[in-house]
Amino acid sequence: EIADTGAPTIFDKIIAKEIPSTIVYEDDKVLAFRDVNPQAPVHILVIPKIRDGLTQLGKAEPRHAEVLGHLLFAAKLVAEKEGIVDGFRVVINNGPEACQSVYHLHLHVLGGRQLKWPPG
Ligand code: 5GP
Repeated sequence: EIADTGAPTIFDKIIAKEIPSTIVYEDDKVLAFRDVNPQAPVHILVIPKIRDGLTQLGKAEPRHAEVLGHLLFAAKLVAEKEGIVDGFRVVINNGPEACQSVYHLHLHVLGGRQLKWPPG
């Protein structure tokens, strides 16, 4: 996708388990699964199960604060589970200029190799 249209995304199908994914963590609010096109040995996406208007971080409203915190904590749990908690990166791409391609908020959890900074 090239723009935030508010249309359903492929992540709805992943949440509904209509298309397969490798789930690494799940609770009542969030789902974490391996990115299909990994940019590091560990590359996991953490998403809210209910999008509720959170197509991108820039659309966040006060009501989203709790789930945003939950997502970030889930990212830490995922890093622990994957054995990268001593060195990992959490990324949110927001909008076309940041190369966001799926308009359902997601955190990328990356690690398992030396990561470069700045990322470019
Ligand atoms: P963005 O560019 O929007 O920040 O990241 C979207 C991510 O979703 C990309 O890294 C892409 O590889 C991943 N992705 C897109 N479609 C699928 C899919 O069907 N399954 C999985 N596991 N990852 C996907």
